Amino acid sequence: MLSTVNELGLTGDGNTKYSGWIPVEGTPMKMPATVIKGSNDGPNILITGGVHGGEYPCIETAIQLANEIQSESLSGNIVVIHPVNTAAFLARMQYYGPYDGKNLNRVFPGKASGTVSERIAYTVNQIQKEADFFIDLHGGDIHESLVPFVIYSKNGGEELAEKSRLVAESVGFPYVVGSVSEGGSISGAASVGTPGFLAELGQCGQWSHGEVAEYKAGIYNALKHLGSIAGDPDQHQVTQLQKMTVVKSLDEGCWYPNVRLNEEVNKGDKLGEIRDYFGNTLSEYTAEASGVLLYLVTSLAIIKDDPLAAIGVA
Ligand SMILES: [Zn+2]
Repeated sequence: MLSTVNELGLTGDGNTKYSGWIPVEGTPMKMPATVIKGSNDGPNILITGGVHGGEYPCIETAIQLANEIQSESLSGNIVVIHPVNTAAFLARMQYYGPYDGKNLNRVFPGKASGTVSERIAYTVNQIQKEADFFIDLHGGDIHESLVPFVIYSKNGGEELAEKSRLVAESVGFPYVVGSVSEGGSISGAASVGTPGFLAELGQCGQWSHGEVAEYKAGIYNALKHLGSIAGDPDQHQVTQLQKMTVVKSLDEGCWYPNVRLNEEVNKGDKLGEIRDYFGNTLSEYTAEASGVLLYLVTSLAIIKDDPLAAIGVA
């Protein structure tokens, strides 16, 4: 993994810990990254924060992890990218990147000669290929509320999914969800044989030291589970969910939810409606399955095809 990072342009002059920039070839983008070489043998771990630029607790968590983890207490190697999408971060954009208007977490494993987002994904995927485990830190976006949960990909076969699920469980967030979505960072990792998880904590364009502490505690426990840092991982009781159903908007306009975050909904329950600026109902949304409401869009403004809510199904 470290030779790949080296080839991509982040070199360390033989130091055990070093930071710098990983350029995204053919674009103005470069990603701030830190490499920590462990003093003992162990797994190669890639940690990314800020694939989405408006998810602040995860970005600060990635920055703090990069600063805190020291080679003396590490087995194996860790590369932290903190954050991946600096352009989206500085533009304070939800979901999308400013250069091509694409959602970086929908274009994995990317393309070497694609648009900026596709090239970012491609660059990250080169490191994913050489990693033994991939950890991607997310949260509710600027206009999203959510309950902390962890997603793992089921796309790389049963063995890979099971390894991913067990490490995802060790984070200790209340819900662990299996996913068959294509194009996301974890399915990009799964497509090159690397297990991993995508964690979600924080919401609505805010961050606090408390959230970052909670996030870091979860990731440190996962790193113990993986054998990267010493110590017995805490065991957590979490709720396993088989899938996540995302409800998308059919219209642009104003969004009026009928449900609350973390609420149990039954199939057919009304989730909310979209109205136009004159108060006329344009479309109504009902639960396609029974389950728990994992995230809910909080903005009044809604664009067509945007996610409105997600239901975790047991
Ligand atoms: Zn995200």
